[in-house]
Amino acid sequence: MLYSVRMRAAKGGAHEAGGSHISGAERLIEESRLVEMAQEMIRRALLHSKGRADFIRLTIDQVEEKRIQRVPLLPIKTFSVESANVGRILAKKLLMEAGVSNVAAATGICALSNLRKNMRGAMAVCAETGQRLDVTGERGIRVSRMDVEDEKAYAAWLEHQGVGGIHAREAVVLAAKAIAGNAVVAELCWSDDPEYVTGYVASQGAYQRITKLKEHGSGLGGRVFFVRQDTDMEELIAYLEEQPVLVAEKRLMNA
Ligand code: AMP
Repeated sequence: MLYSVRMRAAKGGAHEAGGSHISGAERLIEESRLVEMAQEMIRRALLHSKGRADFIRLTIDQVEEKRIQRVPLLPIKTFSVESANVGRILAKKLLMEAGVSNVAAATGICALSNLRKNMRGAMAVCAETGQRLDVTGERGIRVSRMDVEDEKAYAAWLEHQGVGGIHAREAVVLAAKAIAGNAVVAELCWSDDPEYVTGYVASQGAYQRITKLKEHGSGLGGRVFFVRQDTDMEELIAYLEEQPVLVAEKRLMNA
């Protein structure tokens, strides 16, 4: 039996009371690892580069095996760029190659660039018009209840592609879940961690890392899901937030 473990941490009070988002984490793990994972998440909230959280919410619930869906990992590509400006121009090109319209790609990039406060989730915008489709406001849609099927195989797979670090480890899983839902044409992300400037554009074809999408030292980041125009948003949000998903390399899934 697996357990969903979710953590969200803020400073200046709880998120819903206006506190600023510090850190969050989502895992799907065996019971034997719950205590270790809870400790790790609490440590992460207290020792984050964005400051020490004064609000930490840890939620643990059991997940029925029969509800779990298996989805494939996306192949990883890395693009090296010398500045955030060049990175964002490339991000727009990759979004358009994925099927996002010019206006929607520009609107999504602008929405992230103009954030004044971090959300703890993602915005969903129409891949055609660029109009925001979710009504989750500053909270955003929080992708949850996902993990890798085989942690060792995943670590080896990432290493083989020269990808390391906790940010990429988590983001590759999140993007795989989001894209597998079929309503998300593409995802754009850069981190809110001031130390981490690499971001990505994920789409059906690949998880495309861009080595610089923001300036070093900036504590503002976020995610945008570009979704098909005819998307049933309630259904999409239920999938992203509630559906338990395990991610695995396609080759291993077919074995
Ligand atoms: P991170 O990559 O953890 O630095 O997160 C960057 C931004 O992505 C955060 O400020 C949130 O807006 C958003 N985010 C983080 N985790 C999630 C998640 N599980 N689901 C949706 N959006 C998220």
